[in-house]
Amino acid sequence: MKDDCIFCKIATGKIPSATVYEDSHFRVILDINPATKGHCLIIPKEHFDNIYDLDGETAGKLFSLATCIARAMRDALGCDGMNIVQNNGEIAGQTVLHFHLHLIPRYEGDGVQLTWKPNESNEEELEEIRKAIRKEI
Ligand code: 5GP
Ligand code: ZN
Repeated sequence: MKDDCIFCKIATGKIPSATVYEDSHFRVILDINPATKGHCLIIPKEHFDNIYDLDGETAGKLFSLATCIARAMRDALGCDGMNIVQNNGEIAGQTVLHFHLHLIPRYEGDGVQLTWKPNESNEEELEEIRKAIRKEI
């Protein structure tokens, strides 16, 4: 628990939230400023700043829970699709520095934009990058 962290307070119930699910590890809430109707956040009760801090066991449990919540949202909301988004760092759009997973239901014509312009690359560059990442695993 980090004293100045709003999601620590929400996850542990110190600040009330529209909770759709809770267990000993996670709280799932409705986003207060939803991208679309039913936008949910899965928040671990333990504080992790971002994905670099998250341990494998929590990550496994979290994604398993995400499959269950996604199916429930699909059935309850009748959405046409869903984006799973997770931001790390300001440049990537992270505004709350406590790890969380966005589940964003998508509807025909909802106007949400989560796409990017594909860039050119080449085999040489891809191979260099592939090796650099692989070395660090
Ligand atoms: P981020 O930009 O860090 O990936 O996402 C933070 C999300 O948390 C935003 O979508 C924002 O609307 C949501 N949020 C921020 N403060 C609160 C809050 O107090 N309650 C709820 N339910 N959502 C919040
Ligand atoms: Zn926190």
